[in-house]
Parts: sequence; C-alpha cells; structure tokens
Amino acid sequence: MSEKYDLVIIGGGLAGMAAAFFASQRKLQTAVVASTAGGLLFASGVLDLLGIHPIGEQRCWTNPWQGIAALRRDCPKHPYALVADSDLAASWQEFLQFLAQGGLHYQGRTNHNVTLITGFGTLKTTFRVPRTMWPGVLGLLEKKDALIVDFKGMKEFRASQIVENARPVWPSLRAVTLSFPFGFPGAERHNVAMAQALQSPEVLTRLASSIRPLVGQAELIGVPSIVGLQRAEKLLAELAEQVGVPFFEIPAMPPSVPGLRLKETLEGRLTSRGVRFLTGRRAVAVQTRQRHCQSVIVRGEHYEKVLTTRGVLLASGRFLGGGLRAERGRLCEAILGLPVYQPQTREQWHRQRFLDPRGHPINQAGLAVDRFMRPIGCDGHCAYENLFAVGSLLAHQDWMRMKCGAGLALATAYAAVTSFIDSQ
Ligand SMILES: Cc1cc2nc3c(=O)[nH]c(=O)nc-3n(C[C@H](O)[C@H](O)[C@H](O)COP(=O)(O)OP(=O)(O)OC[C@H]3O[C@@H](n4cnc5c(N)ncnc54)[C@H](O)[C@@H]3O)c2cc1C
Repeated sequence: MSEKYDLVIIGGGLAGMAAAFFASQRKLQTAVVASTAGGLLFASGVLDLLGIHPIGEQRCWTNPWQGIAALRRDCPKHPYALVADSDLAASWQEFLQFLAQGGLHYQGRTNHNVTLITGFGTLKTTFRVPRTMWPGVLGLLEKKDALIVDFKGMKEFRASQIVENARPVWPSLRAVTLSFPFGFPGAERHNVAMAQALQSPEVLTRLASSIRPLVGQAELIGVPSIVGLQRAEKLLAELAEQVGVPFFEIPAMPPSVPGLRLKETLEGRLTSRGVRFLTGRRAVAVQTRQRHCQSVIVRGEHYEKVLTTRGVLLASGRFLGGGLRAERGRLCEAILGLPVYQPQTREQWHRQRFLDPRGHPINQAGLAVDRFMRPIGCDGHCAYENLFAVGSLLAHQDWMRMKCGAGLALATAYAAVTSFIDSQ
C-alpha cells in the first residue's frame, strides 16, 4: 500500500504537531507518523520560550527575548541562533491563535515571562500558561488569600506540601483535602479518570458543594490540573459561578491532563484540515536515493505502508521520544543512522555530580543542522536535500534546564517548514 504526501513528519510530540500545523497552514499534504504522544503526556501544559541562561549561573530572564539575544551571542550553535526573532514571534502567534480557535486559550504578558506555582509548591518561570492557570499567576503576584484543594488517593499532589513549600513567596495559602465526589473502585485516583468524571455536570456540582462551605476568606481556589479533558475553561467557570470564587489549575504530575488537552485539540483540528495521523505506528526506515529522501516505511501491528513524499521532517525527540538511542559507547540516531553530535567517550556523558547545575554533556547531544534545518552528514554538508530535523532531537541545547522546550519546538518546526517550501 502506498500513499503520497508533500511532507511526512516522524514524531507526534510538540515539535511534530507544530510542524504539522505550520505545514497544513501552508496547504501541504501532510502525514504524521507517531508511535507515542511523546513529551506531551509528561509536560505540565505551560509553554516555555526561554527561562534560564547560562545554565551554570541559573540566570532567570524576565524578558525571554533579551535572554535569547544573549544566548545567541554566547552559544552561536544553539538552534535559536538559526531562527530570526520575527520568525520565532510568528511561530508563537500562529500556533496560539490556532489553539485558541480550538477553545484552548493561552495567556501571558506580551514580551515577558510569568511565574506560577507548581504541584510541589515551587516556582516555575514560563512564557504562556493555559487560561485555566492564569488566575493562579495573578494570585501569586498579588498574594491573594487562596485555598488549595487536593483529593484523597491522588498521587503526588498534596495541597499541604504546596502550602508549606510556597509559604515564603505566597504566605496566604490554606490547604484542604477532599474526597473526590465520585466513586472509583480502589484507593487510587488517576488524573485522566478524574478529569473525565468532572465533565459530568452532576460530579462538578457535587465538587462545588463540597468546596463551598470551606471557602472562608479565600479569594481564589487552586485545584490540580484535572478539571476536564475537554472544555476545561468552561468547567472552571461553572465551578467559580457555583462557589462564588474564581478557580485556577495547578500543574499535576503525569499523565498530564493539560498535555492531553493540547494533543487532542491539535490532533482533532489538524485531522479535520486533512492531516493524516498514523498513530501507534513506527517509521522503521526512510528510503533514499543519492541525496534525496523518497519514502518512509511505516510499520503497524499487522501491516506495512509506504509513504511516498517530497520531504521528510524528523521530530522524533531524544531518548524519551526514541529519536536517539544509546549503544554501549556511543549515541545513534534511530531511523537513518545520521551522525550525532555527542561527547567523545561514554565517560564524558555525565558529570560527577548528578545535580550539577550546568547539566550533563549528554543533554546537549543530538543532530547538528544547517541554516535550513537539514541534518549535517558525515561529509559536513546536509545529509539529504529534503530531510529536516526539529525539536528536542537537535544538538547544542538543553531545553529542560534552559526552560525552552516549547519555544524550541515551535521555532524549529516553523523554520523547517518554511525552508522546505522555499526549496520547492
Ligand atoms: C517531563 C517533561 C516536562 C516538560 N515540561 C515542559 C514545560 O513545562 N514547558 C515546555 O515548554 N516544555 C516542556 N516539556 C517539553 C515539551 O513537551 C516537548 O517534549 C519538547 O518541547 C519537544 O518535544 P519533541 O516533540 O521534540 O519530542 P518528543 O516529545 O520526545 O516526541 C517525539 C515523538 O517522536 C515519536 N517517534 C520517535 N521515533 C519514532 C519512529 N521511529 N516512528 C514513529 N514515531 C517516532 C515519538 O513517539 C514521539 O511522538 C516537557 C517535557 C517533558 C518530558
């Protein structure tokens, strides 16, 4: 079986999804092959542009654009150095507008980062937060009286821990633990099941009724980020109306409900635009001729498919996603065997101290690309004329420590799709 596309994207994490969106926006016939949802299932749902640089100094930027300018000067090989500010800004604007049209609104302060409270009660700097978390950002700024709610049996989300840890920065917090207003078998409460249950008006009303008598002086109510898989903004507004106080979500541990909302919104809207998703499938090989990719071989449980294409975009992530593989003494790119920028020996993968603030050299490993986002081959030139790489798979960046995961995904996806179109 063979299908024909302009662009085949390998990877369904944020970078692959963003690339699919930018491609569909530009009318390219696009297919996405994704064996899993990648980092989206783990991410908090907030979108970082740049929080920290240099990593070793832990310098935190209020204005991420100034941070990016400094980063480009200090680390000219960082992928941000390949994308102009105007393209970076355009990538965010287009992407957030698309999400908003799907009912998923993000908020922030024009050119500035914001700070929110995490599920551990620590602070997190980021660029844009889901609207469901925004009242918490303002509440922290204004030190409002707030009640933090958790549920018996919920894993790794303790209102009392949040209150305790956040006390120095947000002293007017109070904790309460409730029984989830819906019977689940067993003692554990899973995020996704609770989110689904809260979509029922009856369960939502029961939750509102159990919170109402506890409000006291509280001007805000913080709950774990499990208020509905869909329509979260509406559900929170209904809770606020029934209780008489605004609600906000606090990022909870994986599986991430805000991450699932992102995935479902993107996949649903892109499918209706004609993007073909082959989910739960692996791209096992890319067929090439001279310096050209011609097709991608996709394997499912019971079939093999050939996707003929004019371009291939690798958004296969690092180790978690499966784009990179560690062999005994070296790191390999998993699909085409492309050269991987990496420390020379295995002993150099990690530093002596696990929590070294500078991070580990292995966290900067990945594919080096040219200014068109094409992976560099063994001869120092682009490996294939029509092969592009984006997202966390790229070398010379440590998105986790620099707090630039989403920004890197959006910027490089935008740049790669634009380069592909320009090359046609
Ligand atoms: C724990 C955690 C927390 C995070 N928190 C934040 C945050 O607070 N803010 C922020 O901005 N970002 C955050 N991120 C990062 C963000 O979600 C993205 O993961 C990251 O920006 C880039 O992901 P990616 O798409 O490059 O790769 P991944 O998300 O790793 O996706 C790789 C994709 O490639 C697929 N794949 C790989 N090989 C194949 C193959 N052969 N065939 C088919 N499919 C294949 C995988 O199945 C997966 O779909 C977080 C990520 C994690 C893991």
